Amino acid sequence: MSTLRFKALETLPFKDFRKDNSVEIPTKLSELFCENVFSENTMREYLTKEAFQSIMDAIKKGTKIQRLIADQVAVAMKDWAMSKGVTHYTHWFQPLTGTTAEKHDSFFTPIEGGRAIERFSGNLLIQQEPDASSFPNGGIRNTFEARGYTAWDPTSPAFIMGTTLCIPSIFISYTGETLDYKAPLLRALNAVDEAATNVMQYFDKNVTKVTPTLGWEQEYFLVDSALYQSRPDLVLTGKTLLGHSPAKGQQLDDHYFGSIPTRVMNFMKELEIECMKLGIPVTTRHNEVAPNQFELAPMFEEVNVAVDHNSLLMDVMARIAHRHHFHILFHEKPFAGVNGSGKHNNWSLATDTGENLLSPGKNPKKNLQFLTFFVNAIKAVHEYADLLRASIASASNDHRLGANEAPPAIISVFIGSQLFRVLEELEKVTEGKLSPDEKTDLKLNVVGKIPEILLDNTDRNRTSPFAFTGNKFEIRAVGSSANCAESMTVMNTIAAKQLNDFKIEVDALIETGLKKDEAIFNVLREYIKQCKNIMFEGDGYSDDWAVEAEKRGLNNWKTTPEALKQEMNQKFVDLYEELGIFNHREVEARNEIKLEKYSTVIDIEARVLSDIARNHIIPSALKYQNRLIENVKGLKEIFGDEEFKTLAKEQMSLITNISQNVSTIKVGVEDLLKARDAAKAVNESQTQAEDYCNKVKPLFDIIRDASDDLEMMVDDELWPMTKYREMLFTR
Ligand code: ADP
Ligand code: MG
Repeated sequence: MSTLRFKALETLPFKDFRKDNSVEIPTKLSELFCENVFSENTMREYLTKEAFQSIMDAIKKGTKIQRLIADQVAVAMKDWAMSKGVTHYTHWFQPLTGTTAEKHDSFFTPIEGGRAIERFSGNLLIQQEPDASSFPNGGIRNTFEARGYTAWDPTSPAFIMGTTLCIPSIFISYTGETLDYKAPLLRALNAVDEAATNVMQYFDKNVTKVTPTLGWEQEYFLVDSALYQSRPDLVLTGKTLLGHSPAKGQQLDDHYFGSIPTRVMNFMKELEIECMKLGIPVTTRHNEVAPNQFELAPMFEEVNVAVDHNSLLMDVMARIAHRHHFHILFHEKPFAGVNGSGKHNNWSLATDTGENLLSPGKNPKKNLQFLTFFVNAIKAVHEYADLLRASIASASNDHRLGANEAPPAIISVFIGSQLFRVLEELEKVTEGKLSPDEKTDLKLNVVGKIPEILLDNTDRNRTSPFAFTGNKFEIRAVGSSANCAESMTVMNTIAAKQLNDFKIEVDALIETGLKKDEAIFNVLREYIKQCKNIMFEGDGYSDDWAVEAEKRGLNNWKTTPEALKQEMNQKFVDLYEELGIFNHREVEARNEIKLEKYSTVIDIEARVLSDIARNHIIPSALKYQNRLIENVKGLKEIFGDEEFKTLAKEQMSLITNISQNVSTIKVGVEDLLKARDAAKAVNESQTQAEDYCNKVKPLFDIIRDASDDLEMMVDDELWPMTKYREMLFTR
């Protein structure tokens, strides 16, 4: 008897404690908002006017905080935190492992005379030194100083988790190389702020700062923790490596937006309470398409804070799930045959005068402003599509992209047919000076029509990786397990570069004697011509699109190794260096880390699959086969040679079938282990990742298919692996 599976099933779901974890939400959730955040409001209360102003300047203008002020802030933070029962503090950062990191230190400090006090100083607030050598650094450690330090990011508020004060920080080597997700993101945000603010001088000289905004939508699966523990593949790789799809999956579409199961609802309620306290403005919850799949979305926020909030949320979700005896799966494709999970990143630009630059305005001037940012965003994606593709590449996201549920790996832009027609009109703008008639026509009939168009624009396309949705672009191909910072760093970097180029081109035309508007129309016209090939309104899932995209010269990097290879393109390295986001060494190091991660993930999957196939699947299949053999022998004994042949026909064919599948698995595992050994021995990361992708991974399917066949033959009582129907429908 395969005990783990049945023991896990016995704990389900009939045990009362699993259902009784009921949670009540206070009617006024708003009263909990930011309870555990050193928010602007709290700072006003705890800081001197001077210190408060200094932090606000750091947030709004990026000015440095003086050491003396930092001391004041540290003491205020400590006092506030201690009033809430906090004993420890930590620099909270996001190393390239993909999770968050923290090392707790106590406020407790012994002083002379056997006494002790609670202490926290500006020095400790500003900088700490975790050991950098244990975090991924892509070889930076070998060429540069090994030590790294974390530095306080005052633009993201400190918060309390449990009894620890968490201070959002960047992580950097002593030689200045960034070792985390946040540091380059902050650089990219500064770059786009500067570029967009410069362009805004054409339209509104009052604008002094442009802040990119992000609203993410997080999808996830919940699985009962006992069932999760019974699946070694889920525990070790975050996904099931085998398992026959259940008779009922998502065919009936009865899960999406359906009523939320009670136990899940309790989890969600507790999560929402926690999010409120942490200042994460979650507003939306619903069931997703696949059974046991759900989604959560907040109000959008400034990108840096939104990224921190997503990382923090993933951490909080895992903890709260445990309290409700669930395990949360952020993997992009935990179960074959049902939809996977993504993390849509809605992106826009906001000014310090309160405008959304991707939202059209009330007069023609505002609409030209809208068009400027709209077309430049498309142009940025057109020029740097490969970089955007690389930013979402991972072993787990490969299962999703192009799998008829997520956007394909081809980067295209969807803007809706009506806006597309506007761009087509703009393509016809005369070169050079415009006649007064043309200007009026543009104002009234082209640009002027935009607000109406958007008002009733219900044009939606779920298959596009980069879609305009009324007042923001939605990057849809981001993986559910990813840190949003990666795609956001790329998006803001390429937008910055594009806006810088735009400014140079428009200024050059103004120099030749064109009016500002004329110059802008002229540049936009050329951009639209250049970008047309990336705009696609049709079905991104169709095979025709792949063919059509190839004709249009768009790339289709289907796998992570292919996508990551593009990152080292000189054009991209130059871009990063020009804008001061990464130097050449950092680009290489990050690329190396991602390739290594890819190879490691496939390597672990290969080992886990081999182990399960050999030690769990084959023995169970043989056990059942032996039963059948006994049965056949018995029949022969009772009925004699002739009659038994008819009576035992089905059993005999099952016995043969089992043997065939067992043999396929056995040979498959041997081949897999050989291919894995060979790939592991490769020294160069790019080649190694390609070998894992092209030589190791394809063998997974052979083993899986045979195992899933066996699952359908073998007596349920003997089957060792918890089944899909058990994991997906237990709530
Ligand atoms: P949907 O696109 O599913 O119809 P919404 O339009 O409400 O839903 O937006 C989805 C997500 O987009 C939400 O997370 C929301 O916060 C975010 N969003 C809305 N406006 C912006 C914006 N200006 N910048 C960034 N994100 C935004
Ligand atoms: Mg969406």
